[in-house]
Amino acid sequence: MNEAVNIKDNLCRVIDSIKEAERKALRAEGSVSLLAVSKFHNSDAVLEAAAAGQTRFGENRVQEAVKKFQEVRDKCHALSGFDTPPAPDIKLHIIGTLQSNKIGKAVEVADVIESVDSTEHLSVIEKQCAKANKTIKVLFELHTGEESKSGFLNIEEMRQALLFCAEGNAPHVVPCGFMTMAPLTDDERVQRESFSTLRETKERLSKEFLCFKLDTLSMGMSADFKAAIMEGSTEVRIGTAIFGSRGY
Ligand SMILES: *Cc1c(COP(=O)(O)O)cnc(C)c1O
Repeated sequence: MNEAVNIKDNLCRVIDSIKEAERKALRAEGSVSLLAVSKFHNSDAVLEAAAAGQTRFGENRVQEAVKKFQEVRDKCHALSGFDTPPAPDIKLHIIGTLQSNKIGKAVEVADVIESVDSTEHLSVIEKQCAKANKTIKVLFELHTGEESKSGFLNIEEMRQALLFCAEGNAPHVVPCGFMTMAPLTDDERVQRESFSTLRETKERLSKEFLCFKLDTLSMGMSADFKAAIMEGSTEVRIGTAIFGSRGY
């Protein structure tokens, strides 16, 4: 890891920028929460962010997350320092493309799975949750950018997946909202188009599925979170701006 990176300072800067974007978008302070994306960074980086008050983390590979967050929990217990939050306060969100054979592990370690992209995966999540006697929150990922390979391809497929849940097929799964990744571009207009598509999807589907509280809009990363907040994001997923570059 780059030694020049000061995670605590970066975190403060990101939190300030989120507040500024909330004001600019005429939204209430605190309406956007921060998920710190720690993929490719080690457990010490997570602990540094946790000591600075961050409790919600995102990882996109299940195996990496399992190993790292076990270390985080072990170190938290060992430290139990006054400025490190107790291990149970740390929440882990899985945000990467799901593979069926990793879902069991994902269910074990995660508090939220943000990258649900098929009814098939939903039924595997349900089966694993039932086995582990656990309920899990999920977001439905919509594909809105050419670069990203994951996500439901359209709103109709997403509707079918929500219907699967609404009909009682996945009692251990709690649908909470939606996620997307915008195309990689500096063009703010293109970024906002992707984010507004997700917002409109949420507006439509939350009216159709009143049985669920579909109010999370997870959108915006280091390079585009301001545009996402203008479009109604309730959760930004930020890695590079907090932990530094990942070197790939
Ligand atoms: C890596 C990743 C992020 C964070 O990206 P940064 O550009 O480093 O902020 C957010 N969401 C997903 C799904 C990711 O894979």
